[in-house]
Amino acid sequence: MPKFSRITTLLLLATSIATFAFTKQSKKINNTPEMIADIDTISSPLLAPWEGPYNGVPAFDKVKIEYFKPALEQGMAEQEQEIYNIVNSTEAPTFENSIAALERSGRSLDRVRRIYDVWSSTMNTAEFEPVEEEMEPKLAAFADKIYQNSGLFKRIETVYNSPAKAQLTPEQQRLTWRYYTDFVRAGARLSDADKAKVSEINQQLAGLFTKFNQNQLADENDRYLELKNEADLKGLPQSLVDAAAASAVDKNKKGLWIINNTRSSIDPFLTYSDRRDLREKAWRMFINRGDNGDEHDNNEIVKQILKLRAQRAKLLGYPTHAHMMLDDVMAKTPERAMELMEAVWKPAVARVHQEVADMQAIANKEKAGITIEPWDYRYYAEKVRKAKYDLDQNEVKQYLQLDSLREGMFWVAGQLFGFRFTPVTDVPVYHPDVKVWKVSDKTSGKQIGLWYFDPYARPGKRSGAWMNEYRNQERMDKEITTIVSNNSNFIKGKPGEPVLISWDDATTLFHEFGHALHGLSSNVTYPLLSGTNVARDYVEFPSQILERWLSTPEVLQHYALHYKTGKPIPQALVDKIKKASTFNQGFTTVEYLASALVDMKIHLAGDADIDPKDFEKKTLAELGMPKEMVMRHRLPQFGHLFSSDGYSAGYYSYIWADVISADAYQAFTEAGGPYDKAVAKRLYDKVFSVGNTIDQGEAYRNFRGRDPKIDALMKHRGFPMADAKATGTTKPTGK
Ligand SMILES: [Zn+2]
Repeated sequence: MPKFSRITTLLLLATSIATFAFTKQSKKINNTPEMIADIDTISSPLLAPWEGPYNGVPAFDKVKIEYFKPALEQGMAEQEQEIYNIVNSTEAPTFENSIAALERSGRSLDRVRRIYDVWSSTMNTAEFEPVEEEMEPKLAAFADKIYQNSGLFKRIETVYNSPAKAQLTPEQQRLTWRYYTDFVRAGARLSDADKAKVSEINQQLAGLFTKFNQNQLADENDRYLELKNEADLKGLPQSLVDAAAASAVDKNKKGLWIINNTRSSIDPFLTYSDRRDLREKAWRMFINRGDNGDEHDNNEIVKQILKLRAQRAKLLGYPTHAHMMLDDVMAKTPERAMELMEAVWKPAVARVHQEVADMQAIANKEKAGITIEPWDYRYYAEKVRKAKYDLDQNEVKQYLQLDSLREGMFWVAGQLFGFRFTPVTDVPVYHPDVKVWKVSDKTSGKQIGLWYFDPYARPGKRSGAWMNEYRNQERMDKEITTIVSNNSNFIKGKPGEPVLISWDDATTLFHEFGHALHGLSSNVTYPLLSGTNVARDYVEFPSQILERWLSTPEVLQHYALHYKTGKPIPQALVDKIKKASTFNQGFTTVEYLASALVDMKIHLAGDADIDPKDFEKKTLAELGMPKEMVMRHRLPQFGHLFSSDGYSAGYYSYIWADVISADAYQAFTEAGGPYDKAVAKRLYDKVFSVGNTIDQGEAYRNFRGRDPKIDALMKHRGFPMADAKATGTTKPTGK
């Protein structure tokens, strides 16, 4: 992500639980900088350098919401002054006085924004909302002001084109290229009139993104399904009944049971409820988030966002927003991304038809007298799972204790990368549920960083799961270790009882931990090139590959322990999990790909007037979407696309990166297995530790010796190779 819009990239998950990622931007600048006022006593806890152990930590215990606005304003004023000094230097432009100086600027603002972003994603109360509404457009305008500063661009351009560049280290050359490219892409070369237009569009977009988010959150918080009596609970496992009872208490409806309008509540309800009428009700409530024709309806917002993006792309010299977004990632063009998606689409749809036939057969056998509808899919899929594979998710769940699996992840990180995790209590947290671990090198004891874990759902916290970096690793002026966090929305159990999670949730846990390890492994000089600051169709590779270690016998035998007996999961059950691993892949792949294809097509549509509802319907019909299912994220709730520019025309990234992860994991299985030391070292040296210091396609070739092939992905998902081969889509990389 570009420096001024990078601050928070929440890395999330597409195919299992999660919802969105977003990036934000930095604020206002005047041409003549005012003197920097003494740091306001009110805002100081947010602006001050982080103090304490571990190179300093965020002072989460000192945050008050009223501090955010003055601190952000102050941070922007400081950066404005720093940039003024760079531009007005009398020295000729050099890497050090221009590029490195720019990289050094904005430290205070960066610190405030990291904390502000934590509040935005995990403590988004009614009190915080207006702050965000006011500050987002200002921060967007501030970023533009920097990108559009012609004096600054001139200096960057001079360094970029200077013969002296060849004398710089490869990382310095990469940093120079990154800044030059980001400035050009943000409109640094435009006329003043067009610059003003781009800036105006960005501010409008920032406001619309915030509104989109808030609408979605409102529909997730304010709408829910009330279960009133025992008959309404039919089929639900006890854990779900308990969680529903707890939700009712939270909403002052003690004695009832409440199913929240979030994926982590709705999916299990749809899987287990015997009440078809209630399943339909829950399903409709969930898929209509942001689409209820009321004050929280997102359709008009989506329409405006699309229009503004198309206009901006034109101004910046791209045919469409999709072309603009793919220009500097691994795929390079929308066509290449589409090619991959289309290669997988047909075999996946064919698999859905088989899955539906299996489910219909069970319904017929039960004399249910129904035709499978979308609200039946998860319910009958679970019956097929039991019938075909004799695999009961609830039985598996009894072995999946959150605390124990977390220790399992730590063990994996120790085996692969030599990391040790030690719990610490000497750093402040923003909520009592958050726990912190120190990460160090097992052999040398050297400090690597901190890992914060915020596991449970609560009001004001976004749904899904994500990783967030509070501080990047770097050594520009001194060694700075990284601080990363993993966030999820598990339902907190009763006090003293272990939290049991599903296999899918355990996979998600490992996924987000993969992002965390990517951040923790970083070993670079400049923060802009650090950790997870890589192309968005590459960033899911480290996380997706980590998922694979959950099912290794080493993890299951030692960390998948029965919550009552403490006994490891029986081998027979593990074999069943393995046998069922390609089960329901038709559904999973199609619900994802339908979303990814609609994303790309809608952002390729240019500045035509688009009615989101019509577009969605028409596109899905053209694709041959099976009628028994819906997109994973319908447009009015597709936060990946509309809560920021982050993953717009980029939802394909997950399958793109999965091609790479499947291929990379094969490097382990071809060698000595998942814990092969030599392959793990290569993965660390060539992929996890290098950040964005080299071209990502090249980084992968350094690890694998060649470009990735699609074969391993198709095999992993249980799809035949024939279709994919016919299209010739075997190399999703390149320059
Ligand atoms: Zn992810």
